[in-house]
Amino acid sequence: MRIRTIISPQKEQANLLEHSYISPVFRPSLSIIDSSNDYVFDHTGKKYIDFTSGIAVNAFGHKKFSTIHASIQQMFKVIHVSNLFTAPPQLSLCKYLVQLANKSIKNVTYKSVFLSNSGTEANEAALKFAKLVAKRHHPSLSNKVEIISFENSFHGRTLGALSVTGQDKYKIDFAPLLPNITVLPYNDIDALKNAVTNNTAAIIVELIQGEGGLSKMSTEFAHAINTVATAHNVTVIADEVQTGLYRAGALFASKKVGLMPHIITLSKSLGGGFPLGATITSDTIHDILKPGDHGTTIGGNPVICNVALTNLKKLTNQITHSKITMSTFWLNYELNAVVRKYKNIAIRKLGDGAMRGIQFSTMVDVHQIVEYARKHGLLLLTTGTHSIRIMPSLVCKKHVIKKGMRILHKVINKIKKSEK
Ligand code: PLP
Repeated sequence: MRIRTIISPQKEQANLLEHSYISPVFRPSLSIIDSSNDYVFDHTGKKYIDFTSGIAVNAFGHKKFSTIHASIQQMFKVIHVSNLFTAPPQLSLCKYLVQLANKSIKNVTYKSVFLSNSGTEANEAALKFAKLVAKRHHPSLSNKVEIISFENSFHGRTLGALSVTGQDKYKIDFAPLLPNITVLPYNDIDALKNAVTNNTAAIIVELIQGEGGLSKMSTEFAHAINTVATAHNVTVIADEVQTGLYRAGALFASKKVGLMPHIITLSKSLGGGFPLGATITSDTIHDILKPGDHGTTIGGNPVICNVALTNLKKLTNQITHSKITMSTFWLNYELNAVVRKYKNIAIRKLGDGAMRGIQFSTMVDVHQIVEYARKHGLLLLTTGTHSIRIMPSLVCKKHVIKKGMRILHKVINKIKKSEK
C-alpha cells in the first residue's frame, strides 16, 4: 500500500514559491493569501502593512465590501459581451470619466473614452490615436510621425509603450523598437523647445515619474508643453496611469501643474484591483476616430466597469476627500521626520499625495531597505536607482501610517549600524 504524504497548504505554497511555475520574468517573493484594509497576510500567516497598494492599485486598501458587492451585482447580470455590444456599466463609466476630466482640466473638451485592460494598452491606444490625428488632420505633413518622450519615464512593456519608455534597461534587448522616437531630458524647457517641430505628432509624459525616481513635472515645463503643442499641432498624452485618481494628490495630476493634455491615460486604481485601462480623448481626437481604428475583445469588461464606477463615485465624494487629505497630511508629516532625523543618508522626500518616497545617498542599498522592511512586516517599493517608494492606500489611517513609519525608522537604524 502506498502511503501518501500529506503536505500542509503552507508547505505547498512555500514549495510553489521556491520552484515556481510562474514565468521567470517575475520573481515573486511572497504568496499573499489574505488581506484586510491596509494589511496583507502571507502563507505562513505573517502580517504586513501594505505600503505598496499593489503598485498604486488598491486605492481604498484590500478586500473592500463596495468592490466585492459591485462585481457580484454585475456578475449576476452579464459578465462579458465583447466589443460588438456594450453594457450599462461601460456606458456609465465612460460618461463619468469624461465628466470628471472636463470638470478638472480647463481649455480642453474631452468627449470619449477607449477602455482596455492595462496601463500599457491605454498608452498603446493613445499613441495610435495621436498618429491618426497627425495623418488625418495634416495629410500634407507626411513626416508628422515623431513622438517625444522623456528620460526615466515608464509607459509600459508592450512594444509601442516600451518604445517611448525612457529607460534603456527595459528596452535594450528588444531593439529595434518603433522608429522616430526622441527621448528628451525631463523638465528641460530648452531641450523641448528645440526638439518640437511640425513633424512632431505627439508628446507622451508622466506628471510624476513613478518608476523613474519620482521626479515631478514643474509648472513651467507643463506650460512649455502646452505652448509648443499648440504652436506645432502636437497631441499631448498625459500618462496618468500611476498618478491619476488622487494617487498624486489630485483627481488628475495634470491639473496641479496646468498641463492641458488632449489624451489622458488611466489604469492601476481605476479597476479597483481588476484589470482596466482608459484612454480619455479630447473632441479633436474623438472626431477623427472611426470603427475599426482600434479594438479589444475583453477590454472594459462590464463587471470591472461596475467596480470602477462604484469606486470612482466613492473616490470623488466629500467624505473620501477628507480621508485622503488626512492620510496624505500624516504621510507627509512622517516623511519630514525621517528626512530630518537621518539627514546624512536620507537626502530628500519625493513625490506628492500618496505617491511618495525618499531618496537615499548612493551609499545606501535601497533594495536592502525594502528587504529588511519586509522582514519587519512592512511592504515597500524601490524607484529609480537610490529611492524607496511609499504608497499606502489613499485612505490609510493615521495609526497605520505611524506604525509603518516606525518600522521604517527601525530599518534605517539597522542599515546605519551595519554601515559603521
Ligand atoms: N504608465 C505608467 C506611468 C506606469 O507606472 C505603468 C506601470 O507601472 C504603466 C504605464 C504600465 O501599466 P501596466 O503595468 O498596467 O501595463
